[in-house]
Amino acid sequence: MFADPALEADARRSISLDEPSSLLDRFATLTRESGTPDEHAAGEYIAERLRALGVPVTVHRPDLFLSIPERSEVRLIPDGPGDGVIASRPPAFALSTGGADVTGELCYVPSKYAAGTGDLFDTPSAAAAAGGADPVAGKIVLTEGYSMPGTVRAFEQRGAIAQVYIHPGAAIHEGICTTIWGAPTDESVSRKPRTPVVCVNAPDGARLAKLASTGGARLAIRTWLREGWAPCLVPVAEIRGAVDPDEFMLVHGHYDSWYVGIGDNAVGDAALLELARVLHGLRARLQRSVRIAWWPGHSTGRYAGSTWYADEFADDLDTWCIAHLNIDSPGCADATAYEEVMWMAEAAGLCTAAIKDAVSEPAAGMRPLRAGDYSFNQIGPTAFYMLLSNIPIAERKRRGYYAVGGNGGSPTWHTPNDLPPVASLPILRRDLEIYLTTIVRVLNAPLHPFDYTAAVDEMAAAVAGYRDRAAGEVDLGPIVDDLAALRQQIAAWRAGAERRVAAGGDRRPLNAALRRLARILVPLNYARGERFDHDPATKFGVVPRLELANRIAAAPADRRPFLRTALRRERNKVRAMLRAARREVEPIPA
Ligand SMILES: [Zn+2]
Repeated sequence: MFADPALEADARRSISLDEPSSLLDRFATLTRESGTPDEHAAGEYIAERLRALGVPVTVHRPDLFLSIPERSEVRLIPDGPGDGVIASRPPAFALSTGGADVTGELCYVPSKYAAGTGDLFDTPSAAAAAGGADPVAGKIVLTEGYSMPGTVRAFEQRGAIAQVYIHPGAAIHEGICTTIWGAPTDESVSRKPRTPVVCVNAPDGARLAKLASTGGARLAIRTWLREGWAPCLVPVAEIRGAVDPDEFMLVHGHYDSWYVGIGDNAVGDAALLELARVLHGLRARLQRSVRIAWWPGHSTGRYAGSTWYADEFADDLDTWCIAHLNIDSPGCADATAYEEVMWMAEAAGLCTAAIKDAVSEPAAGMRPLRAGDYSFNQIGPTAFYMLLSNIPIAERKRRGYYAVGGNGGSPTWHTPNDLPPVASLPILRRDLEIYLTTIVRVLNAPLHPFDYTAAVDEMAAAVAGYRDRAAGEVDLGPIVDDLAALRQQIAAWRAGAERRVAAGGDRRPLNAALRRLARILVPLNYARGERFDHDPATKFGVVPRLELANRIAAAPADRRPFLRTALRRERNKVRAMLRAARREVEPIPA
């Protein structure tokens, strides 16, 4: 694995906590709801600091489609208004009823809470019961969990007229419940939730569940949300590489927040600013370019800022983007462990080595969720990080913490308690050391430092499972063989490419081939829809195009021919993608 110890050490030594600390002070005064003056002030602050530091910055001003939750009201009927009101919050993109009540009988569907970050997008309670009338139809569903998009959509499709989510603790966490990723199209806009959704805390939820179990409990629900297109600021710094400036790495995070959002994600914004300062200082020694972007519209537009950038700069990203690195909730108090770091399989070697070399810590990875500004999977650059450091799992267990999506694992996440004590500057320094070590390696490695045989191995293991589950229906065996052949070809190609570069050959066409290979393998491993589109924000497995193989054996006999037809078509698409991948790694003559 490539490393440049002298440059990496200089980069880590250059870290100062002055800019991060000033940014945190300023952002602690700004409720950065997208499209509001506070958020614009934060965007201007980032741009001003970059200008003051001499870092080239462009501020884009797109209109983003947002839904800002204002408030909700949940009343037990027949208690009158003001009586039996239960504290609640609506997630972004729930239906705004304005002043109108939606009333109905409660239907309690017990569920289980996510065991960890990796389970947050699961839909344990929402699968329809087989046969007979669906008990949730026409009712207000009450269930445990965050109002995650797949669950909300599934209950709505089953005929629920409203939904109440019981959060796992004393706090109500803010969130977003649409499956639509970024700005809707005229087609996807129909997936916008059409019913009100609210969240309540655990004690209130338990009380409602008890009432619902005894039967006949009725609720009235009203929601107020502000929805529409709003101008937002997207600051993007660019530090040009000294040797191959067209090739660039994208480093990014969101700067909008719930409340003042210190742990999610002022700390990430501070990290991005310090990265810009340090990398700008080292620019003469950086071979390739780095773009550093701060996104609006993450929390209330389902990653609207990064999705806008993906749409607007698609050609550039497709041709030149080496990889992207996402920064969300680093530098939080007590977050000293690297046990659940997201990275794509091909980046595992890079990330574990960078974490070990930077801070002498072991690291364990997980497959990136379809979440958190991973808005580029259908273009296809390799990606890593999002959440990085966390409070050690054993310590969270000892404290009785439940699963959250940031703040190092602290239950302050997405609440008014996400305040300055959530941040830890010494831990932010450690995380910055990791980011810099990783970035410098990507920018200066002669060949892009990703092992695509690892991605192929991940896919091969999953496809073998699909093949077994679809046995007798559709033959997926040829894909297993294709992957084995591709793996061999990639390994031989890489060895040949390294020999050629060592002998002084031109590395540019070789790196271009690696990027084109990623443009095939990343969408194959992570996407269901076509390139340059944006799949829904729901949980996907490995090679999601083939996931329907999991359902085919259990499907009723009269449905099976339809599933067979669909799976056969997906097999054909996958095989064509693998043929295209193999063409990118034809043997290199010695
Ligand atoms: Zn975040």
